[in-house]
Amino acid sequence: MGAAVRTDDHDRRQRGENPSPLEPMDILVVDDDVEAAKAIAKALTTLGHVCRTAASGEEALALIAERRPDVVVSDWEMSGMTGAELCKRARATGAANGDAFYMYFILVTGRGDREHRLAGMEAGADDFQSKPVDLDELEARLVSAARVVALHRKLAEQTAQLRRESRRLYVAARTDALTGVHNRLALRDELAQMYARATRYDHRYALGICDVDLFKAYNDTFGHVAGDHALCAVADAIRTTVRASDAIYRYGGEEFVILFPEQTLAQAALAMERVRLAVERLKIPAPGGGVLTVSAGVAEVDPQADRSPEEWLARADAALYGAKADGRNRVETLSSSSS
Ligand code: GH3
Ligand code: MG
Ligand code: MG
Ligand code: MG
Repeated sequence: MGAAVRTDDHDRRQRGENPSPLEPMDILVVDDDVEAAKAIAKALTTLGHVCRTAASGEEALALIAERRPDVVVSDWEMSGMTGAELCKRARATGAANGDAFYMYFILVTGRGDREHRLAGMEAGADDFQSKPVDLDELEARLVSAARVVALHRKLAEQTAQLRRESRRLYVAARTDALTGVHNRLALRDELAQMYARATRYDHRYALGICDVDLFKAYNDTFGHVAGDHALCAVADAIRTTVRASDAIYRYGGEEFVILFPEQTLAQAALAMERVRLAVERLKIPAPGGGVLTVSAGVAEVDPQADRSPEEWLARADAALYGAKADGRNRVETLSSSSS
């Protein structure tokens, strides 16, 4: 760019008059002609922008990675990496890093022919500044740069907000509103995942299903609100009893499923027995005297016998049915051979 910087309207800026109406931007000026880069940077600084200069494409790439400027004004013809190559590489790196920010790229060139400009556009340039550099013209180009940068910034903020919101909705859709444990939708997905891992990679998984005993009578006697409180207390008792890695799901109204990763039938049955005891120890008065209790059934996934995750769950349910039939407030297991 060199002596090419025109300073026709420059005194105005130097007197600090007519301050730029633009939001200050971070601008990187690239030219192997260091003096030319400095002259442009100085002029843009008087407009309120924060400017840095780089004397080569390599230096510019390092500064872009470090500073993430809003705008790059780069000479096209440079020894070594050209401005167009710099633009292409900076864009590729930004895309590979999943950058949300947008860098507005202005290529400075003396050529105005169609092929040349097309090649610049293909390299990812947003605009061209002809040589000699007219600072008023460049200032005008920065107005559109500021608009594009602001739009991208807003877009990035909205995208981040949408991501947070969709994450929140995802969690909410998989959480039971009453007890705060996972819900049936989450169980369906995770049961399928565990079943797949068990069948493909020979992992051992067990699951327990527990059901509050005679809960209809509890509701009928104490009312639905008291019933809801009791269900929350049962969920809390399960939560504090099992390991953090064991996931808890509300399966039905008063039924909870617990997935025990990497655990054998015997280990899971022991864990369920601790759950049963924990609920008993809550000492929630039951309608006919005594306290509220749960019955539970446990089954370990058997990749040979269980043809689907549902069959695995059904065996645990059958064990639960057995516990109910044998008098409730107990844990029973069902191995695949007994089903
Ligand atoms: P069993 O020991 O055989 O399981 O007897 P039970 O009375 O618990 O079984 P049943 O399936 O007949 O009744 C379950 C009851 O759970 C019926 C319903 O009133 C109650 N229930 C289901 N969901 C909720 C809920 O969200 N809140 C309250 N308070 N009660 C619920
Ligand atoms: Mg040059
Ligand atoms: Mg039930
Ligand atoms: Mg019940």
